[in-house]
Amino acid sequence: MSAIAFIGMGTMGQGMVFNLVAAGHEITVWNRSPLPHDVLERVRLAASIAEAVAGAEFVMYALADDVAVHDVALSPQGIAASVDASTIVIDLSTISPETSAVEAAAFAARGVRFLDAPVFGSKEEAANGGLWIVVGGDEATFESSKSVLEPISATLHYMGPAGNGAKMKLVGNLVVAAQLEALGESLSLAKKAGLNLDDVLGVFEVTDFRSPIFNGVGSAVLADDYSPNFALKLMLKDGNLVRNFADSLGVHVPATLATVSTLERAFSAGYGEENASALIKVLASDAGVNLAE
Ligand code: NAP
Repeated sequence: MSAIAFIGMGTMGQGMVFNLVAAGHEITVWNRSPLPHDVLERVRLAASIAEAVAGAEFVMYALADDVAVHDVALSPQGIAASVDASTIVIDLSTISPETSAVEAAAFAARGVRFLDAPVFGSKEEAANGGLWIVVGGDEATFESSKSVLEPISATLHYMGPAGNGAKMKLVGNLVVAAQLEALGESLSLAKKAGLNLDDVLGVFEVTDFRSPIFNGVGSAVLADDYSPNFALKLMLKDGNLVRNFADSLGVHVPATLATVSTLERAFSAGYGEENASALIKVLASDAGVNLAE
């Protein structure tokens, strides 16, 4: 069993940490904001990043965005400045390939092994240890990290050199974003056309274009449930990451641009803290329909 420092106890971090604890690892956490009592009962809390990472065999973090990774990993008080050279550092956040490359270089400069390992799945998969993790970095480091990645994952996918995990995550999130937009457009059209939405979802569930996202999000939308598993503000962040990544390679992603535009409108409407599926409320409103009726 390993001594792990875990940083970022948000929606995803909490689920991951509880599964690492259950697997017998010794976890010390640090979080920017105070943590609730029920979380504190189950973990050891460090007063600073430096205290958390001191002596850790692994440092893992699941942070909101590029800014958070700069603050936590790359600032003068951050992980790269204080971690022991023998530690393996694993970034589980969804961030740009550019920031991922800066991290890889900063850790390499200190002789520290580093993996970019963003995750697919949401709150439920994090809580159940059922994430799908895509990993970039040195393959031997990946092999050495399986003991801490397996307790939080359903499958692990080694994608190649540093940065390839971050790139794969954006490739996958292009599909997730397009599915949410497609679900919102299709349910709005179906409702306007007088179809029964339970019947529509019944067709979506079995056909050759079925998707667990259509099932889970579709039922929640009909129940008017937009409680956050994955906050809309983070989906907007990811849409912009996909757009910038594609731009940097000269690749056109018109479906992503459409989805980012819908997400921006949903954010402006005040849905940023709701689930990413709240973008569907904008599409339903455009069509003049209420999907929960
Ligand atoms: P979250 O609940 O918003 O948690 C974000 C974490 O980042 C919190 O611990 C937060 O600390 C910390 N943080 C944010 N800005 C910071 C800063 N400047 N300095 C230090 N800490 C900072 O987000 P999440 O849903 O767990 O997502 C975490 C990552 O996983 C994101 O990159 C997200 O895109 C990705 N992801 C999420 C899902 C999902 O379904 N939720 C699925 C796949 C991937 P505070 O507590 O102080 O705010």
